[in-house]
Amino acid sequence: MDERKQAMEERVAAVRQQMEQAARQAGREPKDILLLAASKTQDAQTVALSAGLDIDLFGENRVQELVEKQEAGAYGTKPVHMIGHLQKNKVKHTVGRAALIHSVDSLELAREISRIAQKKELVQDILIEINLAGEQSKSGVAPEQLEPLLEQVCQLPALRVRGLMAIPPISEKPGQNRPYFSALRQLFVDIKSKKYDNTYMDCLSMGMTRDFCDAIAEGSTLVRIGTGIYGPRMYKEEH
Ligand SMILES: *Cc1c(COP(=O)(O)O)cnc(C)c1O
Repeated sequence: MDERKQAMEERVAAVRQQMEQAARQAGREPKDILLLAASKTQDAQTVALSAGLDIDLFGENRVQELVEKQEAGAYGTKPVHMIGHLQKNKVKHTVGRAALIHSVDSLELAREISRIAQKKELVQDILIEINLAGEQSKSGVAPEQLEPLLEQVCQLPALRVRGLMAIPPISEKPGQNRPYFSALRQLFVDIKSKKYDNTYMDCLSMGMTRDFCDAIAEGSTLVRIGTGIYGPRMYKEEH
């Protein structure tokens, strides 16, 4: 077997084992948590190698990468999600390709997604991205803006809100992000209980390589793992 594939296979097995352990410790079923491979910067060949491993789906940060790898067949039969910041002018290339868009954080963007989805005669699943720590450099809506936003978004015809996503600050030590994960889960539970139109809240997207066990302990249903699967990223160019 390809050496690179074997290295990835071992990393995926280790991640799965930790996911399972974290789930059991929290009294949860491992099958209730999806493993998304965050494949940004990885080329189509590497991604294609990883498609045969024990991962559930892929996530990309840039629309162009998503389109290229999808057209190359790199994801195999696995779905791909858009997990990075989405510009309005890229919406037309994303709707219908990404099974789920994790990064919706404004009414303007939601409207554009719904408009394009309507044109394509489909319903686009989305998550609302929350900026939990009020970090200026990051996208996402402030927690107190979530309900006003949802009241508008849930009236858009071609969208379905499936849940919430957040990227907490980079954690220096284990356990540091738990309060953020717990806060996101609380928001998720609150929104779910309010039964907005066009919402079907079943996805809580939180946890990355450094902190996915804490995220699972706090109720994550989808962890996004990049370096934990592919190893350190090499950035060819910055955008
Ligand atoms: C890159 C990225 C990840 C994965 O990060 P790792 O620390 O490499 O696991 C997850 N989510 C988003 C939104 C990302 O951009």
